[in-house]
Amino acid sequence: MSKRTKKVGTSGRFAERYGVRSRTMIREVESQQKLRHACPRCGQKAVQRTSTSIWECSKCGNVYAGGAYFPTTPAGVTAERILKGLPVESPVEKESK
Ligand SMILES: [Zn+2]
Repeated sequence: MSKRTKKVGTSGRFAERYGVRSRTMIREVESQQKLRHACPRCGQKAVQRTSTSIWECSKCGNVYAGGAYFPTTPAGVTAERILKGLPVESPVEKESK
């Protein structure tokens, strides 16, 4: 199957509307969002986004909450480490003064 859109990808559905920046941002998010992600339960790459922050594995039926657009978020990873009692990597201090 030949590729229908060369540059614009999934944002092609907006045609010329909404501006280049908005279309570029949504294209970058959707290119990750629509991929099949690894399942935290069975490990297979079969997790797809059902709805906002709802992720479902088509192999084992595991439905779980994750990030709104990505299965994991940096804040979610930190929260999980705290819950498991693992040491949390201290965020790199930016120059405060
Ligand atoms: Zn699974």
